[in-house]
Amino acid sequence: MEKKNAWTGYKSKDLKELEKLNSEYKEFITTAKTERRCVSELTRLAEDAGYRNLSEVILNKEEIRPGDKLYAVHMKKTMALFNIGTEPLSAGMNILGAHIDSPRLDIKQVPLYEEKEFAYLDTHYYGGIKKYQWVALPMALYGVIVKKDGTVVDVAVGDGEDDPVLGITDLLIHLSQDQMKKGASVVVEGEDLNLMIGSRPLQGEEKDAVKAQMLKFFRDEYGVDEEDFLSAELEVVPAGRARDFGLDRSMVIGYGQDDRVCAFTSFKALLEAGTSGRTGVCLLTDKEEIGSVGATGAQSFFFENTVAEILYAMGDKENISVRRALSRSRMLSSDVSAAFDPVYPSVMEPKNSAYFGYGVCFNKFTGRGGKSGSNDANAEYIAHVRNIMDKNHVRFQTAELGKVDQGGGGTIAYISAKYGMEVIDSGVAVLSMHAPWEICSKSDIYEAEKAYKAFLKEA
Ligand code: MN
Ligand code: MN
Repeated sequence: MEKKNAWTGYKSKDLKELEKLNSEYKEFITTAKTERRCVSELTRLAEDAGYRNLSEVILNKEEIRPGDKLYAVHMKKTMALFNIGTEPLSAGMNILGAHIDSPRLDIKQVPLYEEKEFAYLDTHYYGGIKKYQWVALPMALYGVIVKKDGTVVDVAVGDGEDDPVLGITDLLIHLSQDQMKKGASVVVEGEDLNLMIGSRPLQGEEKDAVKAQMLKFFRDEYGVDEEDFLSAELEVVPAGRARDFGLDRSMVIGYGQDDRVCAFTSFKALLEAGTSGRTGVCLLTDKEEIGSVGATGAQSFFFENTVAEILYAMGDKENISVRRALSRSRMLSSDVSAAFDPVYPSVMEPKNSAYFGYGVCFNKFTGRGGKSGSNDANAEYIAHVRNIMDKNHVRFQTAELGKVDQGGGGTIAYISAKYGMEVIDSGVAVLSMHAPWEICSKSDIYEAEKAYKAFLKEA
């Protein structure tokens, strides 16, 4: 049972590969800070690697054969990629799943207002956050404003070289006597997360002149007016690049590593794995942080429908084949795990915790209380996965999310398990989970990608 820190065993070849993967990863999470940007960036990379768009394949009645590479996107926020195997699809797939949405602040539908000659956009937070962590930071704004005629206007400001940043102010310590007595959940309240965007009045304007100036800005810069915010999706995220963390550069700090660290490594593994017997899949879902709901969340029929479309296009028109393809599949449902933090040891049980540098992490179950809400992976399946990891010299560890009855959390694992497929939670350990800046170990990122590649080939 004795385990060693993965760093102690790396040769120079490993270290070179590790740094290369992590450089690409840092670039990716710097560029793709929203689910829409993840999908567009990964679509670009997939097309470069020869993946065809499934909807075009269907439209043009193109053939699908073993060895083909396909991707499907739904509503620009969720996607599935396939390496079609040499065995029939109905024999089951090897699926890597992860989510590409992250905690953030969403702009409200009626957001713009002026107060004491400051202009603000009002926000509604998305996912589980400690609200006090999201103030006094430079923030970026990403998303779309869709006009009534269907024109989609892209907004991306805060990460360009000369871009301005936005943000939410915090109360100065000198006057915080009352605030400091409050509980942490109310020290900054949700309704007070107001994004400051300007302070300069429009010349010649009498009333709400700063707001008027901002409206002029939105008109000039994006061609939109105040009503167009009604059909906008704008997300406020931390501004700035993902970077090396630690004097030894052993870690990565960046926004949205939950769960883009698993999404990126799964995607990379699929691209590198090539054709196997069983069809390999990378499924990237939206809305995990709010319960995997909606047409782009893991609970939607997007993936099932996509599998049905591929079978149909391959000439297998039996409904039973869809059921078989799904029930005979095996999946690594990847999401970040809570890393052991020596500053807060009391919430962890050391034997069953994830540690930086000990490789990809498998969680037999997640959930809360008596494992409530969890997919509880089968022992037989865990043995199968363990065997694949050992055979391929992949470092892995097992963990659960903190001490019994300390809290908990969920993933998308239980949703795929509904088809009767084998599923286990796996992923990369993270520190400061759901904070604006999260931290991962470069070696765990490296081991995760190796684990996913081995799984695609051998599960
Ligand atoms: Mn997650
Ligand atoms: Mn999360």
